[in-house]
Amino acid sequence: MRCDKCSAPAIVFQKYSGLHLCQKHFLLDVEKKIKREVRKAKVEGTLAVAFSGGKDSAVALYVLNELLAKSGTNIVAITVDEGIAGYRDNVLETAALLITQLRIEWKIVSFEQQFGVRIDQVRDRPCTLCGILRRSLLNRAAKSVGASTLATGHNLDDEAQTILMNYLRGDIGRLLRLDHGEKAGLVRRIKPLKYVPEKEVALYALLKGIPIDLEECRFSFGVFRAEVRELLNDLESNHPGTKYSLARGHEKILQLTQRTPFELRECVECGEPSVKQLCQSCDTLAKVRLHGSDVNESEP
Ligand code: SF4
Repeated sequence: MRCDKCSAPAIVFQKYSGLHLCQKHFLLDVEKKIKREVRKAKVEGTLAVAFSGGKDSAVALYVLNELLAKSGTNIVAITVDEGIAGYRDNVLETAALLITQLRIEWKIVSFEQQFGVRIDQVRDRPCTLCGILRRSLLNRAAKSVGASTLATGHNLDDEAQTILMNYLRGDIGRLLRLDHGEKAGLVRRIKPLKYVPEKEVALYALLKGIPIDLEECRFSFGVFRAEVRELLNDLESNHPGTKYSLARGHEKILQLTQRTPFELRECVECGEPSVKQLCQSCDTLAKVRLHGSDVNESEP
């Protein structure tokens, strides 16, 4: 098969676009999708990048550095140590390779230090607590380095899953808070990879030789997310473009609501921004300490 752009041998077929692409045009296509999101975001000052060492955040950090570092944007990578023995230590070693290669400032923060909890000591649904605490800690760390924006490595698959999960739960409040702009105490978030399918992120990392850690955390995401992932993969296979439509549709809804559907106050416990009296981190930590349960699956 030949590339539809230049007739060189194709290495990939994008069912959703109907295009066969060679290596060069595949890499350009991924970068074009990321560039579009970055341009929309108009990043100024310091950009914090959530960097776990996995393929998504490594590709995000690599491409953002290529796109923005030369134009004067200060990039700081932030890694959260969740407290998972035998996992995070190995990942940090690989993560250090990319940091050294890109010569980027790196800040490592930990749940244990901030919240006094390790995820490997949580018995019930550790991923749920992990996701909630990670969001909170990333926000705190981004603020501490003076970042105007925080980029995360969510890819198209993550994004479509999270949107569909919230639709299925009827959780409109959370749907509207997924991609929030800047709010008091809350650093604006962007997801530069949100229109790049997961498989393409992995292929990009491989072709570019970006050091990534392939080790899986021994905890796995919740059952509901796994079911939604399977459902979406089936739909995408039968109806190419489904994941993109979900993400794009959600973005249009946010534009209609002008991203101001919720107000924030200070959490009475920790002072971080919150929709309710207690922020999600303090609320969930309290429940876990009391009952070890009663939390919902959330964003990865
Ligand atoms: Fe945290 Fe779950 Fe991811 Fe492990 S798999 S890092 S516990 S969210």
